[in-house]
Amino acid sequence: MIAATTIQIERTTNPKVKPQPDKLGFGVHFTDHMFIMNYSAEHGWHQARIVPYQPITLDPAAKVFHYGQTVFEGLKAYRTEEGRVQLFRPDMNFKRLNRSNDRMSIPPIPEELGIEAVKELTKIDQDWIPDGAGNSLYIRPFVIATEPLLGVHPSHEYQFIIIMSPVGAYYPEGINPVKIFVESRYVRAMVGGVGEAKTAGNYAAGLKAQEAANEQGYTQVLWLDGAEHKYIEEVGSMNVFFKIDGTVYTPALNGSILDGITRNSTIQLLKHWNIPVVERVLSIEEIYEAGRTGKLEEAFGTGTAAVISPVGELNWKGEKLVINDGATGEVSEKLYDNLTGIQYGKLEDPFSWMV
Ligand code: PMP
Repeated sequence: MIAATTIQIERTTNPKVKPQPDKLGFGVHFTDHMFIMNYSAEHGWHQARIVPYQPITLDPAAKVFHYGQTVFEGLKAYRTEEGRVQLFRPDMNFKRLNRSNDRMSIPPIPEELGIEAVKELTKIDQDWIPDGAGNSLYIRPFVIATEPLLGVHPSHEYQFIIIMSPVGAYYPEGINPVKIFVESRYVRAMVGGVGEAKTAGNYAAGLKAQEAANEQGYTQVLWLDGAEHKYIEEVGSMNVFFKIDGTVYTPALNGSILDGITRNSTIQLLKHWNIPVVERVLSIEEIYEAGRTGKLEEAFGTGTAAVISPVGELNWKGEKLVINDGATGEVSEKLYDNLTGIQYGKLEDPFSWMV
């Protein structure tokens, strides 16, 4: 365990005015401080520090701008009714960050140091964790390749930075089913590619399809496999589950799907409740067939931002499939209530997820 004292702290002398808790949005406002740490081939990760939130200066030749050598994470801090501050499974985020680092040829970050940095930063900016149902503090750790050199090689220099943003409830009026466009033209990732890594290029590659889906009134796209456009992968920033005839199915992790922490938690909860859950290859055709024959009971996405997002309608090549009459299903509701109950300290935490 790295002692917090190894993190140098420079407090702001000019605190910002905090936004109204009912007007937060997502990733719009940022707290007073940020964490930053450098990497060089000679010194490894060094110079861990918390400083006032500020712009960073980089050489225009920094590799991140040209070759996208970068990874990120997303997790949240929650304030309980008693005023305690809790993080949801931060060890999982730092394990995943290091898997992403490995795929992108970025040196690993000691997990304990990463968690310590998040704890210290949330402590310093704890007044920024908003009150109010569904509000939380979104934490964004990321790594960028900073070496100013245009050769296509892994960088020898990096910065690891953590910024934080108070965010509002995803569903201010309770969870609401979304409409999802099944993407048949563009692909997000291929097995053997970088789909499993939380890296910028995956998101840039998805923008065009998302824009087109938004224009037609769909909130996100459902990605199919890159080779055949037949098998379900995931939604824009969520993993996806389908309840068919009493059993819950989700695509098995195959290297091109992000290993979601809410996905993992959902599977654990379903098993805990003795609801059958199966991870396997799932084709879009079988989902539609289950829908046409009345066996598709629920569909929902899982992710840090929305927690559980019921899917009320799919559109695949123009064929619309309305799920559960466009309403929130029983299992989706139960998962949402339990996950958020644990996160906000209202329910017992049977898996010791909260830190
Ligand atoms: N898939 C993608 C592509 C994502 O960006 C996210 C959000 N991190 C997820 C799934 C859900 O992952 P998690 O539950 O860890 O937020």
